[in-house]
Order: sequence, then structure tokens, then C-alpha cells
Amino acid sequence: MTDTLYIFNEDPLHFFVEYFDQGDPERREKLERAWQTFQRYDPLRRLSYKIWLRKSNEQAEVAVDHLLPSDAPAGRYRVETFVPGVHATTQRAVFVIATGVRPTETGGQHLEEQMVLVDMNELYDVWYSLGEYYLEPGRHPHIGRVRQLDITREEPPTEISFGPVRFVPLTKQPGEDDTQPDSQSTGRFDSPVGAPEERQGPFPTGRYLWGKYPVWAGDWFDANPFLFWYSYGYHTGADLNLPGVSSADKGKPIYAIGDGLVTYAGKAGSWGYIIVIEHASGLVAQADGSLQSQMVYSRYGHVEPDILARAGQTVHRGQHIGGIGLAAGATSGWHLHFDISYTDILKKRPAYWPDLSAWRSSFGGYSSRAYSSARNSIMRQVVAHFIDPLRFIKDNH
Ligand SMILES: [Zn+2]
Repeated sequence: MTDTLYIFNEDPLHFFVEYFDQGDPERREKLERAWQTFQRYDPLRRLSYKIWLRKSNEQAEVAVDHLLPSDAPAGRYRVETFVPGVHATTQRAVFVIATGVRPTETGGQHLEEQMVLVDMNELYDVWYSLGEYYLEPGRHPHIGRVRQLDITREEPPTEISFGPVRFVPLTKQPGEDDTQPDSQSTGRFDSPVGAPEERQGPFPTGRYLWGKYPVWAGDWFDANPFLFWYSYGYHTGADLNLPGVSSADKGKPIYAIGDGLVTYAGKAGSWGYIIVIEHASGLVAQADGSLQSQMVYSRYGHVEPDILARAGQTVHRGQHIGGIGLAAGATSGWHLHFDISYTDILKKRPAYWPDLSAWRSSFGGYSSRAYSSARNSIMRQVVAHFIDPLRFIKDNH
């Protein structure tokens, strides 16, 4: 296990930029002039990045490459890009990740690449996963290369930004037995939904439904991933759903993700009914990519009123604790809201939700400073208490 976090371009000046200028110096000059830059604050890492920007209507054909250092060890990496909250309005940012090589019939090598389409418009100052890949940099100088193209063909024109890309080494290497807990951890954690073999088996990595919704166990997918911006602020966790009609999830069993103590089980305002479980120790990803063992709380929201566990009760991993219900007053929209807190906020305030009042009062003035600072404050409240639940399950599975 390695904890090194490769950040190739904290200073994106080290982008490798390739122009498709057809050898025309005038065209080349126009392409070079079209670059703009701006600074953007990353609330998770408390750092500011210099980010490059182009209008998407330049018809310019520029490719920007981010490279994994050639001396990086072979292993699984999560490839992420920082998408700023401004100057990133394209819904069609194309990233191409070189994941391996295969021999050609003529004895050469063919680079295998994976294309990922990113809707930058709905992301706001977040590190966004472009997927998890086994990368072996020694096999070819371009393995791990992330290529970003500036062609979106959107009308009206949008803005496309080129933020930093990073390669986060994952704890488990292929071939390692991932059914065993990490030595630092006292327990394993599974998905809260899905059939037993789906919840307990190898956790899917990098699968997305319709290109944007992470798949959890089996067919269960997250319709509203961690830190997605929506009408209730930044999402604190996952909204787990089965594909199909809204009622496809109705009454489906919810399982305790790990051994723990129920600290709350009952009614909670607009949530409907919720369950909170305290877990003595789980591996929590730190801002620098390393993992630390600490107490965590899992929360299960919009559950059916007849909860199968009560406060003060000890539960075990995989124990059936209730069924999927609805938010208070709702008549449709069954799903399990599931989140993980690494503070004791859910012990003190089981129904806790970040305060949206400053944002609501600045509503209407989308470009105002008040609006943007209110959004930043909501983001800070979320990351102060919650972690990406999918990442947590994978790190502790
Ligand atoms: Zn939710």
C-alpha cells in the first residue's frame, strides 16, 4: 500500500498542449491566444489552483495531456480531475485515459484508451473521478496519460476548463484478497442495499449507469452522488435506487453496513424516518489521500416506519434493519438516502443537514458574490462532517 498522491499539475502550466493547427501559423497563434486562466479554491484540500479555460466555440482542436510520472509504481489508481464551480459550463467535456497496451498483428503496440464524458456544468469545485484503473507506467510512456479535448460542439457556446488531474493510488492491488479487512481496521463494511452476494462480494469499481450514476451493488445505482449540487444544497451522501419505476425500491431491505451501535432510530422531520449507527472504527480517506482509522456514523434516510432496530441496540454487518420508504409527506420517489459522517454530528443531531438559509436568501442572483459565498459555505459544512460513502465502502470492504 502506498499513500503517495501524484499531482502532476498543481501548476497547470506544465500541461502538455498539442495543437491541431494543420501547420498554419496564423491558426496556431489564434489557438494560443484563446487561453485564459483563473484561480479556484479547493475546499477539500484548502488549496488554490490555477485553471486554464477556453470557450468551446473556438472549433480549435487542442488536446491537453496530463501524465502519470513514469516512475509511479504499477497498481490501481483512481484518476480524478478538479472541476471548478465557474467557467466550466460544458456538459460534454471529453477525457481519454490511456489504460494499457496490447500487441498489434504487425508486432507493434496499440495504446488502449477509455473515454469518459463529464458534465462539468453540474459539478462545483470538486475532484471528480474519471474511473479506477490498473496502470503499469513501465509498459509504455503514455500509460496513465489523461488527454482532454476542447471540442464540445455545443450551441450556444459553453466554457471548458482544464483543471489539475491527479492519480490517487488505491489501497488494494489486484490479486490481493479484498474480502479480508485491512490490518488497521476492526471491521468490514458492505453496501447497505443489494442481495447478500452483491453486498459482500467484490465491490464494483468505476461502473456507471448512463455514464454518470455510480453503480453500487448489483443493479443499485446512486442517482445523486456525494457533493453533487442540487435543490437541497450539496449532497451529503448517496441516493440509492434500482433502475425502472420510482416504486422499484419500495420496501426493499436495508442492511447495516458494519457492526455497530444504533444511536437513533425513528422519526426525523422532513426526512420521514431515519436510522443512525455508530461504528467503532473505519478507514477514512484524508485530504492527502492517506487512510486513517476512526469512529464513523452511517445514516439511513427515508426508511419505512416499522424499523427493525432500536436506539441502544448492537447490530451486525448485514443485519436487516428496515425497508426503503419515503420522505415525510412524499407519495413517490422511493430511495435510500445513505451517508457517512466522520464526526459525531449525527450522534448529536441525527437529522443534521447543512444550513441553506444564506443560499436561499441570495437566490435569483446566480452570479452574485453572496450566492457564490453561500454555496461555498454549504460545501464547507458538508465536507466538515461527511465523506464520500462509495469511497468509504470500497476502502473498507
Ligand atoms: Zn439524499
